[in-house]
Amino acid sequence: MLKFVSFAVKFQINVHDLNNEMIAGNVNDIRMIQFLDDKGNLREEPGVSGRMLKHWHYEAMRQLILNGSAKGIGLCDACRVGEPIRPSMLKDGEFYTIKSEEAAVKGCGICDVHGYLIAEKAKGGKGEGEGEEKGTSARRGSRAMFSWLLPVLDVESCWKQVIHNRVSSDPAVMMPFNKSYASGFYGFVSVLDAGRIGLIESKLDSSGAGALIDESERKSRIKVALEAYRYLISGQMGASLSHAIPHIKPLEVLVAYSEEGPLPFPVSPIYQDYLVLTANLMPEHANLLYWGHAENDKAVKKDSIDEIFHEVINKI
Ligand SMILES: [Zn+2]
Repeated sequence: MLKFVSFAVKFQINVHDLNNEMIAGNVNDIRMIQFLDDKGNLREEPGVSGRMLKHWHYEAMRQLILNGSAKGIGLCDACRVGEPIRPSMLKDGEFYTIKSEEAAVKGCGICDVHGYLIAEKAKGGKGEGEGEEKGTSARRGSRAMFSWLLPVLDVESCWKQVIHNRVSSDPAVMMPFNKSYASGFYGFVSVLDAGRIGLIESKLDSSGAGALIDESERKSRIKVALEAYRYLISGQMGASLSHAIPHIKPLEVLVAYSEEGPLPFPVSPIYQDYLVLTANLMPEHANLLYWGHAENDKAVKKDSIDEIFHEVINKI
């Protein structure tokens, strides 16, 4: 049974604003990040944070569960409407956080997979000490983990600011604004700890069994978490999809999966020799599937990205 899956994805993306977290007045600038090339030289280029990748994986799961092929998976009220404070339930028009991990995992397929952190401030007291109610916090570690999306090191990337006009009949709101768009070859790494979906470690018996949900829902949750990666690979991420769908061309997809246990992270595809290095690193129980132009004895070459998804989903 599928325990662990990792992805190393390389694609070309032309004219994207996948990360417009830097907003100042009329300037909607792209997030830049510093990193080193393989000779140790400093580069500062557009990158997309792993928080953003995780968010868009979350969104893809949500859409598949609500509108797609993955019906029948429970969601909390926050995930149902895309409310960021989760897990929550809606009562009389207000969201109340669900504090018990058991209730959250049983009731919500996304909070199960994506984890959460609820930190509540202390209430009631006037300062430290007496009369103060202690702040509570609850957390669940994410079963899906994401790197930043970074430019691959052996090619250049570019970015440019352009001026847009808001289209309106009211001249007062016809204010020009600036926006940056970037292009380049990018890579990211992500892992899905499929074996721990539907589980709470402290509730397991000594044999390691004891999922909180029935096996068929657990499998559906793993499947939808995997299917959501197709949408990331297609560039279905970012806040500007209505007017700036990125021009994406997948270049390479390397998937490692195991039916025995956790795997090390793959070497990042921003490095030219990542396929060889990943194959060198993986333990014997890893199965490597690869779509792209390179050859490697340890990776089974597939004719399409879809074939990779099929094989992995069949192991659930
Ligand atoms: Zn939820």
